[in-house]
Amino acid sequence: MTNPSLLILAGDGIGPEVMAEVRKIIDWYGARRGVTFDVSEDLVGGCAYDKHGTPLHDDTMAKAQDVDAVLLGAVGGPKYDNLDFSVKPERGLLRLRKEMDLYANLRPAQCFDALADFSSLKKDVVAGLDIMIVRELTSGVYFGEPRGIFKEGNERVGINTQRYTESEIERVARSAFELARKRGNKLCSMEKANVMESGVLWREVVQRIGDTEYPDVELSHMYADAGAMQLTRWPKQFDVIVTDNLFGDLLSDLAAMLTGSLGMLPSASLGAPMANGRPKALYEPVHGSAPDIAGQGKANPIACVLSFAMALRYSFDMGTEADRLEKAVEEVLADGLRTADLMGPEGGAHVTTSQMGDAIVAALNASL
Ligand code: NAD
Repeated sequence: MTNPSLLILAGDGIGPEVMAEVRKIIDWYGARRGVTFDVSEDLVGGCAYDKHGTPLHDDTMAKAQDVDAVLLGAVGGPKYDNLDFSVKPERGLLRLRKEMDLYANLRPAQCFDALADFSSLKKDVVAGLDIMIVRELTSGVYFGEPRGIFKEGNERVGINTQRYTESEIERVARSAFELARKRGNKLCSMEKANVMESGVLWREVVQRIGDTEYPDVELSHMYADAGAMQLTRWPKQFDVIVTDNLFGDLLSDLAAMLTGSLGMLPSASLGAPMANGRPKALYEPVHGSAPDIAGQGKANPIACVLSFAMALRYSFDMGTEADRLEKAVEEVLADGLRTADLMGPEGGAHVTTSQMGDAIVAALNASL
């Protein structure tokens, strides 16, 4: 059997710092669990621009297409703010998502008990929260044509088009149903079928896929505005939510912040199954390159570590090991370890990026 393959693109700013902690965990799996990953590393974002004059070299793109999973740190920074739009660091990330056709964006919102006080909502509303938002990522109003600012009579009009084909809805719905099966077996689909034809089609297609292929999954539908209210009122009523690109953009940010710091939030973007049956996949923390704290050992590596846990679960069929890693993070937090971002405004004693990584490895050791 061949080893699972992983391309690491650490990127800019705190990207390499948080990725160094994930490398410790990857090494731990090799040494203590007999799982050796074939890891290759390359450049993306500003550092790729510095070396190649492009934020993603063609060779890197080809490598990304060839591995079981890509793990990305973060891209960008003030040094690159004035570059032409076509070579900005973010373009590297967008090219990866587009050429790998990563249509399902998974954003978990999970509240660790030790951090429940961090939420802006009451503790009992968020404690134990564990939901997953699946956002369609490659179509909808961000891509539909016509788009632009046009002259109409003697004023200008800004136009974007919400457009979804049945097959685009079908494939993201299947991703969400599959996930629901691996979790609490409950899926809620959100759109605005009351005012948008694309929403009517969305609802019809999701219902059909549910009836014909996933009758065992409990399916419900909700208007996205009501969904936003319910997410803040009682988020624990949800398990998996599937929604379009625009609503997913808003709802996944809303749900994520129910749980506290940006330094804690992982994500996965999945595409069609490859020859080995696993989806094309890119895993990355939700946060950016955090230039304000880069190089100071202050970055919280947990979002990147939890992104690797998602890779274990969704790309490598290692659900038990993903559980082990998530539990290690939970234990470290329960023991009171905090990076600076988890301290609250009053501050206090906190650990460095590297100390947090070491503590997670120690908790993994203790789990054996
Ligand atoms: P950011 O996420 O980098 O930082 C926002 C705030 O959160 C900062 O105060 C930062 O210090 C803090 N923060 C973020 N991650 C943290 C972590 N792991 N630990 C502790 N604190 C953390 O967003 P920004 O400041 O708006 O953007 C900075 C750069 O990152 C920009 O160039 C932006 O374009 C880029 N960016 C990249 C991505 C990506 O690579 N996916 C996403 C967002 C922003």
